[in-house]
Amino acid sequence: REKDPHQPEFHQAVEEVLSTLWPFIEKCKDYQKQGLIERFVEPERIIQFRVPWVDDAGKVHVNRGYRVQMNSAIGPYKGGLRFHPSVNLSVLKFLAFEQVLKNSLTTLPLGGGKGGADFDPKGKSDNEVMRFCQAFMTELYRHIGPETDVPAGDIGVGGREVGYMYGMYRKLRNEVTGTFTGKGLSYGGSILRPEATGYGLIYFVEAMLKTKNKEIAGQKLAISGSGNVAQFTAHKAIELDALVVTMSDSDGVVHNPDGFTMEQWQYLMELKNERRGRISELAKKFNLKFEEGAKPWQYRCDIALPCATQNELDVDDAKTLLDNGCFCISEGANMPLTLEAIHTVQEARILYAPGKASNAGGVAVSGLEMAQNSMRQHWSEAEVDNRLHTIMSCIHKACVSYGKEDEGEYTDYVTGANIAGFVKVADAMLAQGVV
Ligand code: NDP
Repeated sequence: REKDPHQPEFHQAVEEVLSTLWPFIEKCKDYQKQGLIERFVEPERIIQFRVPWVDDAGKVHVNRGYRVQMNSAIGPYKGGLRFHPSVNLSVLKFLAFEQVLKNSLTTLPLGGGKGGADFDPKGKSDNEVMRFCQAFMTELYRHIGPETDVPAGDIGVGGREVGYMYGMYRKLRNEVTGTFTGKGLSYGGSILRPEATGYGLIYFVEAMLKTKNKEIAGQKLAISGSGNVAQFTAHKAIELDALVVTMSDSDGVVHNPDGFTMEQWQYLMELKNERRGRISELAKKFNLKFEEGAKPWQYRCDIALPCATQNELDVDDAKTLLDNGCFCISEGANMPLTLEAIHTVQEARILYAPGKASNAGGVAVSGLEMAQNSMRQHWSEAEVDNRLHTIMSCIHKACVSYGKEDEGEYTDYVTGANIAGFVKVADAMLAQGVV
């Protein structure tokens, strides 16, 4: 905190992880050697650069670009790029730190990183977005590569942006490698990568429910957001006969107490991915309730799936959810619950999974995309889906094995995920010496 006093999100993430890891580290003396923890919370490298670009009216803009290369002890840096005005070093360091543990949990050889820019793609033309992505890549290309650092999408960075960045990368390097994931199917992308985070989240929820002999069919789900993660979480949930009762964006929330239909979901896909419109249009089109500035957590649900952004569910929201009978919260976004909200839901002993476990399906399929690129192969949908299922169930098992309280029924998924993710990275760091 003294070194970087203005990084609240990063401190929040480190506090959440270290407070659960500490009792474990105290028992395992090896993890107190070699300055391991001090090294673990310090990025290996941070790259910051200027991104100048010209808008359609000829005006020059200067944004700030970053890549935080956090830890490569078990594999190349891997993690998304975020384009949003709120992007700063605190946010990216928290995301990169979480990514290290998440990637370790996937069972794949992936290190952790994260990057992005304080650029707002909203309201920009296609050409402006392309020029920005190209300008961003003219600096980042020299720091990434298939064996070094493999970026992907995140908030504000979807298939369109990955395509523009990958195109510039390929031109500058004059080589065709799997240096990005989330690529289009025609140029090396993996089938099911767009769906993977959302589908994986639902597979993880199914595994959690199984421990209580429950099924997802018939459960009421409150989902926040309407971007990549929220869209495919909703899709899989509707497919499995759950009732998705809310979707939102930063303007407000749409409530459908009967559950969104596939027809409404398809409209949302076109609205958000092609027209880049606002969620209120979904309410208008199907005569549903839209509440401006509201969050989904006020509505009755059995399961809450925050899929928008960090700190979007605070302690009051947590209390409202509990009062309304919600018995499971699983994070699609990264760190959507504040620390106080986490403590509240854990005290209530409901099912609660942190994003590093429950939203790891996206990076897992990114790892599978890298494997397919290296082998110059394309796996079928069934093959990728099978592997995704297996990985999510391995992550669930790892959480239970480290997070089950002695002889109790309760699984502390936060502790479980943190310890399981940490052990592999820590062992690799110790074996490789002080570097
Ligand atoms: P998208 O940009 O596709 O969607 C983000 C959604 O969240 C949009 O509906 C957006 O609304 C909403 N949102 C963003 N910021 C805010 C805010 N400050 N307040 C309210 N709503 C907001 O991003 P993704 O779906 O890719 O990512 C969502 C979350 O999931 C992030 O935390 C990301 O780190 C995490 N994640 C993503 C993965 C992936 O594979 N994409 C993998 C693992 C985690 P609006 O359009 O109005 O801004």
